[in-house]
Amino acid sequence: MSETAKIHAVVKWPDPVLTKPGAPVTVFDAKLKQLVEEMFESMYAAQGIGLAAPQIGLSQRLTVIDCSFKKNPDEKVVLINPEIIERKGKQLEEEGCLSLPEIRDKVSRAAWVKVRAQNVKGEWFEMEGTELLARAMQHEIDHLDGILFIDRLSRLKRDLTIRKIKKMQKNGEW
Ligand code: ZN
Repeated sequence: MSETAKIHAVVKWPDPVLTKPGAPVTVFDAKLKQLVEEMFESMYAAQGIGLAAPQIGLSQRLTVIDCSFKKNPDEKVVLINPEIIERKGKQLEEEGCLSLPEIRDKVSRAAWVKVRAQNVKGEWFEMEGTELLARAMQHEIDHLDGILFIDRLSRLKRDLTIRKIKKMQKNGEW
């Protein structure tokens, strides 16, 4: 991990970059490797376990996840141009998002997913995840498609949440 990694500010809703599908990553060079390090550092600085490139204002299909939050380097996941190729079961757990601070709600997700993605070298791989990792992968891949977790709530709950955010904005709390 680079000691000099730049910390990027996390973009908050309703920034339009969050609702726009990201472009595929096509160049796998040293700059991309550096960006991945910066994304991990930015995610840790913001106390998150997942961060997608659109959340730092980059409309690209790239996300990082660490469900162990720095405790286990083996749990650091980099997904470039990822797709969910299989999903099974259901889980209903509370979710939050660095782009929606203080907003939490229960979101229905698949209990298990298999993802196909590229690594920083551009090599394709497949990985499976359950529980929190499965949830994080689905949440982060949604970001790459311009979807936020509040878009997965019922219409009523989503409207109430947006009303709450607008009130916070008005009070200078957002
Ligand atoms: Zn998020």
